[in-house]
Amino acid sequence: MTNRDVDAVIVGAGFSGLYATHRLRNQQGLTVQAFEAGEGAGGVWYWNRYPGARCDFESIFYSYTFDKDLQQEWRWTERFASQPEIQAYLEHVCDRFDLRRSYRFSTRVTSAVWDDDAQRWQVASDDGSVTTARFFINAAGGFSVLKKNDFPGQEDFHGAVVHTSQWPADGVDLAGKRVAVIGTGSTGIQVIQTIAEQVAELTVFQRTANFACPLGNRPLTDEDFAQAVADFSRNREESRNRIAGAPYPRAVRSALMDTPEERRKVYDEYYNGGGFRMLTSSYYDLIFNPVANATAADYIRERIRERVHDPNLAELLCPNDHPYGTKRATFETKYYEAFNLPHVHLVDARTTPIVRITEKGIATTDHDYEFDVIVLATGFDVGAGALARMGVVGRGGRKLTDHWAHGQRAYLGMATHGFPNLFHINGPQGAAALFNNPIAIEDSVEFVGDLIGYLDSHGHTTAEVTDLAEDRYNELVREVADATLFPTATTWYMGDNIPGKPRTPLSLFTGAPMYRTICAEVETTGYAGFSFDGENRPPSSLIKLDGSAVFFLAGLQNMGVKPLEECSLEEARATMESFTMMQLPVPADVRIRETHYPIEGGERTARLYRPATADGPLPVVVFIHGGGWIGGSLDSFDEPCATLASRTGALVVSPDYRLAPEHPFPAATDDTVAVLRWAADHIAEFGGDPDRMAVGGESAGANLAAVAALRLRDEGGPSLRAQVLITPPTDFLADTESRKAYPHGPILSMELAMRMGSLYLGDPANVMSPLASPARASDLSGLPPALVITMEVDPSRDEAEDYARALAAAGVPTVCRRFDGLFHTAFSLSGAIPRVADIQTAIADFLAPLLSTETATAAAAIG
Ligand code: NAP
Repeated sequence: MTNRDVDAVIVGAGFSGLYATHRLRNQQGLTVQAFEAGEGAGGVWYWNRYPGARCDFESIFYSYTFDKDLQQEWRWTERFASQPEIQAYLEHVCDRFDLRRSYRFSTRVTSAVWDDDAQRWQVASDDGSVTTARFFINAAGGFSVLKKNDFPGQEDFHGAVVHTSQWPADGVDLAGKRVAVIGTGSTGIQVIQTIAEQVAELTVFQRTANFACPLGNRPLTDEDFAQAVADFSRNREESRNRIAGAPYPRAVRSALMDTPEERRKVYDEYYNGGGFRMLTSSYYDLIFNPVANATAADYIRERIRERVHDPNLAELLCPNDHPYGTKRATFETKYYEAFNLPHVHLVDARTTPIVRITEKGIATTDHDYEFDVIVLATGFDVGAGALARMGVVGRGGRKLTDHWAHGQRAYLGMATHGFPNLFHINGPQGAAALFNNPIAIEDSVEFVGDLIGYLDSHGHTTAEVTDLAEDRYNELVREVADATLFPTATTWYMGDNIPGKPRTPLSLFTGAPMYRTICAEVETTGYAGFSFDGENRPPSSLIKLDGSAVFFLAGLQNMGVKPLEECSLEEARATMESFTMMQLPVPADVRIRETHYPIEGGERTARLYRPATADGPLPVVVFIHGGGWIGGSLDSFDEPCATLASRTGALVVSPDYRLAPEHPFPAATDDTVAVLRWAADHIAEFGGDPDRMAVGGESAGANLAAVAALRLRDEGGPSLRAQVLITPPTDFLADTESRKAYPHGPILSMELAMRMGSLYLGDPANVMSPLASPARASDLSGLPPALVITMEVDPSRDEAEDYARALAAAGVPTVCRRFDGLFHTAFSLSGAIPRVADIQTAIADFLAPLLSTETATAAAAIG
């Protein structure tokens, strides 16, 4: 074979490699040399020819969408396509787009070494040739290396031992044989249910029982197909904006909102409906709330017990050591009924593990079994196992295996630091675990294609992820995993199935929409986190966010919550109220009561939070809720205020103040002053000490608190011991870096801030008033000591920090705490963002000395 020099080497002829070849060669005009170890196209669908191999995403969704005609001319015959049909489809794609001529089939890449001088990859293959290329594209797939046989003695066995992913093309004759199947993952389940009726004896070795739900396969009717063709554009669009990368109904309710009877109806519908909907469409909290998850797990166990006649056997088939969905969801067709057949047996390989393969069969710690055929359905070294075996050496002689010694990591699942111009298609730490793979692959190929186009059009030679961006993304993937239940299971998602493999999440568990949003943000910010010819670009804002924050935002997208910018006033208010679902329970040690405070022409409600165990007159914190002056409520700040009371030992007063646009400026600030004056006069009646009073607030509430501190100073008191300002907007006209860096939020975008601000201000001239923009006050001296809390990824961050600096410059004792990785409104999302507890601690630590009886004199002196 002659050596070649091309633009791109592509490894693999599955969904990834074929589309990458089409995109780079046919659409971008690059020269491509592609390699494939198999004799033909198909990738994972070429190798996995075991009996019953079939896809568990619907065929009309589990196919390419890049070409409308292709989608419409390929007539799938079943709702869930079988392996031969998917392989034939990929062969058809290969021919239809004339891809075959770019491939060397039956050829393995044996090494890939980056040549720093030539700025090219040198790729050797087992046909003896070397191909040099600017780009090396890993499209070898996540399931191309099988898990090494754990069991000694295979060579002694008189019969055949066959791994499901090395199933011979001409099959294995199982009829009338005594067959063992080891493994009950997706593959084992498909094999078992398919061969149960053909074989003489079937013995299943199960180490971990799985939650298998009905697949719901059936022939695809002409009506189904016509509908799929008619819905092509909608399906294509929805696939990209739903959690699983398929147009399944959105889960918009918590499992805990429904009664057991209502839940039963929901689970019946999705269990009987087939496919992934049971996990993705029933309830949104199954993947992160153990109590919610248990309702689904109980339901599935109940179904298993109904279907398996022998109660002891049924119990053994019921999973009980991991939450539902945390091992990859599995699907079945009469799998459980197979165990009712007299010649099908189940061995518990957890209590009686397999010791070895013997001459006659399998020895466990308990028994010697005799077989003719042993089927290993024991899985894969999932991730970039193939690449790790290809002898990849990057910049400065760095081996990929060394770089991955602590776990496979890839920025966005596509790039690895130290390996310039090497791109993975849908690689490790992409979103594949919760993202219908052909769609994930199309996205990934398009991202890489665009990146190469950008590189070429800007005259760059190399693109490589920076170590900073790779590290941060890797942390983000871990933090997101920690917000879910996935790490609680022993699963290949975490690398657990391969002995010695470092435990690391192999996927970003956000679902498709957030992953796509992150990639789009990277692309639109000029490939943030990449380095072009050594010129580094800093990571983009979503990647800076705490994983719990990203998981929360992903949840909003998965539920299809309308961005606040697109909401009417009523919708925006309702959305803000719905965030209370993301709060921890109100602490039980706080007593809550309501009273009223007077305002001009009437009165308003104030809610009081008193720590139940505290004695005597308590210090008082009047806390003003957030909500952009147009929304928010006492209810939406119940938990933050109650927690504040519990953590500080103060009596917290939360006033219901007038909202814009019905009551524009200065109504809300008048109410804030009114409640403080009322508290000074009346709080003793409720057990508060009016001489130890602070004001605080969040977001718009923090603006009102800052303004109230100014007004009380200038309008004759009462005097305050402290002000706590959490993410305060301080100047409507501020021109700051954070406004430029984070114009889109998250949650608070500049567009939204401006809209809410103008509803609040009413008359635009009010923008200059220091009672709307406290930073415009000519004198900040004599104000109470201030704690200013800011969030890193927040357009209002810098104006708040500028205000803190101005306070300090005016002689006000001021502490400014910035919380990295959090966004505006995080404070009121304690159930979603565990670090909110740190914010509460910061407030309690700040207030403790200022509100204590001992410091009364000193604080009064400062005030
Ligand atoms: P898997 O999910 O890793 O399952 C391997 C099975 O083998 C598990 O039951 C495992 O038990 C068992 N096992 C491994 N080593 C063992 C040992 N030493 N002793 C006893 N049991 C042992 O692998 P898979 O079923 O091949 O599936 C891998 C992935 O391929 C799936 O999760 C899915 O993503 C994909 N797949 C998809 C489809 C589809 O329909 N689209 C079909 C098949 C596969 P433990 O659980 O105790 O480790």
